[in-house]
Amino acid sequence: PFVITDACIDVKDRGCLDACPVDCIYEGGRTLYIHPDECIDCGLCETVCPVAAIHADDRLPEELTMWVEVNRAYFGPE
Ligand code: SF4
Repeated sequence: PFVITDACIDVKDRGCLDACPVDCIYEGGRTLYIHPDECIDCGLCETVCPVAAIHADDRLPEELTMWVEVNRAYFGPE
């Protein structure tokens, strides 16, 4: 799945919410989160994010890999 990372914090542009065809992006406190089990890997959210906060989980820079777990944890235990 795609994941939202730290660049979204306190930005929450929300353009991705309109772009996502399966509505799997949710608004949290200071950032937005992608539900990892609902994301269909279309990549549209990545193209519209004005701060480049969204990346495919398998293409994350090392310093952002923690965000895979942050996004999943937002939706609770599996
Ligand atoms: Fe939604 Fe597609 Fe982004 Fe996944 S990759 S969160 S399905 S817009």
